[in-house]
Amino acid sequence: MNAQVSSDAGIAASKGVFIDNHWSPAASGKEIDVVAPAEGRVFARIAAGGPEDIDRAVKAARRAYEGEWGKLAAFERGRLLARLGLLILDNADELAALEARDCGKPMKQAWADIAACARYFEFYGGAADKWHGTTIPFLNGYFVATEREPHGVIGHVIPWNYPAQMYGRTLGPALAAGNAVVMKPAEEACLTPLRLTELAAEAGFPAGAINVVPGLGPEAGQALISHPGVDFLSFTGSPEIGVLVQTEAAKNHIACTLELGGKSPQIVFSDVDLDEALPTLVNAIVQNAGQTCSAGSRLLVERSGYDRIVGAVAERFGKLQAGTPDMDLDLGPLISLRQKGRVESFCAKAADDGIAVLAEGKIAEGAPENGFFVAPRLFGPVPQANSLAREEVFGPILSVIPFEDEADALTIANGTDYGLIAGVWSSNAKRATRVARKVRAGQVYINAYGAGGGVELPFGGVRKSGHGREKGFEALHDFTTLKTLVFKHD
Ligand code: NAP
Ligand code: MG
Repeated sequence: MNAQVSSDAGIAASKGVFIDNHWSPAASGKEIDVVAPAEGRVFARIAAGGPEDIDRAVKAARRAYEGEWGKLAAFERGRLLARLGLLILDNADELAALEARDCGKPMKQAWADIAACARYFEFYGGAADKWHGTTIPFLNGYFVATEREPHGVIGHVIPWNYPAQMYGRTLGPALAAGNAVVMKPAEEACLTPLRLTELAAEAGFPAGAINVVPGLGPEAGQALISHPGVDFLSFTGSPEIGVLVQTEAAKNHIACTLELGGKSPQIVFSDVDLDEALPTLVNAIVQNAGQTCSAGSRLLVERSGYDRIVGAVAERFGKLQAGTPDMDLDLGPLISLRQKGRVESFCAKAADDGIAVLAEGKIAEGAPENGFFVAPRLFGPVPQANSLAREEVFGPILSVIPFEDEADALTIANGTDYGLIAGVWSSNAKRATRVARKVRAGQVYINAYGAGGGVELPFGGVRKSGHGREKGFEALHDFTTLKTLVFKHD
């Protein structure tokens, strides 16, 4: 892994790849170091899965789909999901500590992530036998019904920012719908997905229903997205790899869902209730150190209230502190040195472009020097054409952009290639509704902002943010295919 991170004793050994409800070494025999971002040192190793392991996992999933798992009634699948949800809560201490160390996030965030992961399994456990087709009036003498069928075997590639939440978010609906799954988690943070899959086996999921193969994107990931035995792909990550996923899906004539991040606007009118809005406006970019696909990374502020609103945001921003999971402050470190370098290069370019830093938080005293911390920063005013106003930084960097009126706000809000989520803040309900309905995004909040949102709320984007919907009942739509049955009875 990275030459600049240190290692020492007490490194947790790799358990291998998890296929057919048991661990085995990766075919390559190779391993990957896992770094704790808050410490900047290796604390575990994982197997470097590759094409042979993926092939074995896909075949195991197919056997499960055609065998014991595929034969379960919907309510029996739901019961297994609900049982896993409870088991996750029973093991929440251990899982939250693992997630916090692997990702560097504050403990309160890790707890919230584990709770959300459990909620996905509860929600989809309950939904499994409530997702059904319909009947269609047709010609006399005919009876027509539709049936929602699973795709079969689904390949899931997830990123490192919320491994536990992503696990629940993508596997919950896929399994509730009756698919068997193979997951390739991100090599930078995959310990909770592996542990959760052990718990799934303990909950009673039949062998092969859930298989997890850790490894590198170009090796295990590429093998999964191009495998001809996979019937559907679910990907969350960068737009660049999203293009690859969609290309491989096309070659195999299968569909995919892509969740590729965003440059989400928070549109703040002068009549905002600032006391109510302030904590959310700031947290929307600080949560998970800004490494959230739906981070509110653009703060669009009406010119007439600019000084008052930006002044209050700046004051709050200046008090933010980054620290270790146990310090449990506003934010943790970034996931890797590479990600830290990426964020710092955005900041350096903004300085070169003459954009002012309006406020800067701190790295807490006592935070390890080797940790991948960056101080949160508020930049503004950021010209609409600047990369800080258009590109996903994936760090705790908030860009302030002034606007003149409603029309100007919408032009700016809709002026990037992305469209994932948005927030509209105003005491004028009619205006807020009007603007919300014209923003191009999969989710729009009014006088609220939910980076990540609730498990019940359909979520996904347009254009460079991807397509397809996860969360809520909508995810069951994407993870199934529809069959129309036509019966002639006269
Ligand atoms: P990424 O490369 O797209 O990683 C996402 C997942 O795709 C990881 O599991 C990765 O594996 C895998 N992958 C990489 N190459 C692959 C390939 N050729 N075939 C199949 N799978 C492959 O994203 P990243 O490099 O971690 O982050 C880069 C940027 O993407 C971030 O700065 C951020 O802007 C954006 N991002 C967005 C989200 C989101 O939630 N939408 C999440 C993460 C990142 P490995 O990483 O294990 O190699
Ligand atoms: Mg990567």
